[in-house]
Amino acid sequence: MIGLVARAPKKCLTAGCRKPATKKGKCDEHHVPWEHTSPRNRSRPANAATLVRRARRRDRERCYLCGGPGRIVDHVIPVAEGGTWDLSNLACICDACHALKSQGESARGRARQR
Ligand SMILES: [Zn+2]
Ligand SMILES: [Zn+2]
Repeated sequence: MIGLVARAPKKCLTAGCRKPATKKGKCDEHHVPWEHTSPRNRSRPANAATLVRRARRRDRERCYLCGGPGRIVDHVIPVAEGGTWDLSNLACICDACHALKSQGESARGRARQR
């Protein structure tokens, strides 16, 4: 009866921590949401939401590539390629252009890893 074997509760993976693991092998205290660990978002500033709002207002929610309506705010130069969170590097983009642009970026990202 495998289902009845009692298992000790998992402990947090952080060295020296004895709390039970509740999230992906870590306790509540040591668990870091992916937004903070992914390289894409590591440089995200605390005022990111404000910058995004300002970029939307400046561009009047028009895609900077095709001029169509676009509420997504994108990095003109991707952060992974040295772009910053400066307002000059943020621009509104539509779904279609964003999808195309992301495709190119992930292809370049894969090429860099080789
Ligand atoms: Zn812990
Ligand atoms: Zn567009």
